[in-house]
Amino acid sequence: MSKWPIGVFASVDAGLGVNFDVVKELGIPSIQLHAPQKQTRTKEQADAFLAKCSDAGVTITCVFGGFEGESYADIETTARTVGLVPEETRAARMQEMKEIADFAHLLGVDAVGLHIGFVPEDTNSDSYRDLIETTRDLLDHVKANGQNVHLETGQETADHLLHFIADVERDNLYINFDPANMILYGTGEPIEALRKVGKHVRSIHCKDATWAAEDRRGQDWGAEVALGDGDVGMEDYLRTLHELGYDGPLTIEREIPEDPVQQKADIGKAVSLLEELRTNILG
Ligand code: MG
Repeated sequence: MSKWPIGVFASVDAGLGVNFDVVKELGIPSIQLHAPQKQTRTKEQADAFLAKCSDAGVTITCVFGGFEGESYADIETTARTVGLVPEETRAARMQEMKEIADFAHLLGVDAVGLHIGFVPEDTNSDSYRDLIETTRDLLDHVKANGQNVHLETGQETADHLLHFIADVERDNLYINFDPANMILYGTGEPIEALRKVGKHVRSIHCKDATWAAEDRRGQDWGAEVALGDGDVGMEDYLRTLHELGYDGPLTIEREIPEDPVQQKADIGKAVSLLEELRTNILG
């Protein structure tokens, strides 16, 4: 693939992301994939989906894990339910994440992404120490598949994420940088955060958002909006990625499953915006 191919989220079975027909219609050359349900994670399904991608000239760049019982209803619920952090489900989800990585391997994909959850702030706590061990176990499993794990940003500050990555001490742990999440969760100014974590970034989301009221950041969600309409500053974002030497896909994330017509329109607009900026920046 050439530098900065446009990407979008898609699914193998019905679910999150855009319909594959939209990927084809918009001529999008790369996708990140939402991991399918367990019953769909088979060799036959992987081969059938790969054939579909090959026909459409689409490359799968990363498979994202998600779990039953996760809810993004509000920030507090997200902290309680998302990723490997919640202790009651940690072991079972880690096992499922390994299976998702094995499915990604069947697809020939060398990166698996996830929201690990809100990494505990107290780095001396048992929960933090156990999360480190859990993450190492996952990383060692995926390494045998020749894969890396990309942690989605936003649920902690850039500094805390760097601290966590250093503590894990593995060479296959990287970052999927999502600038809008920094705004939505109120965890830091996105461009400044990107500069801090830049050397670990192996994939990114192109998503936009507006900040919550200043005195409510970190407590109330900001608002996710169409690309270019929010507070990230897409030109700044792409210029910073360029300075950092990032040359991977520009994966658009626009989850409004309740309105597929609007989703398709917003993604079409995002593709145009990114293509224009890419030409301006890369020449
Ligand atoms: Mg994202």
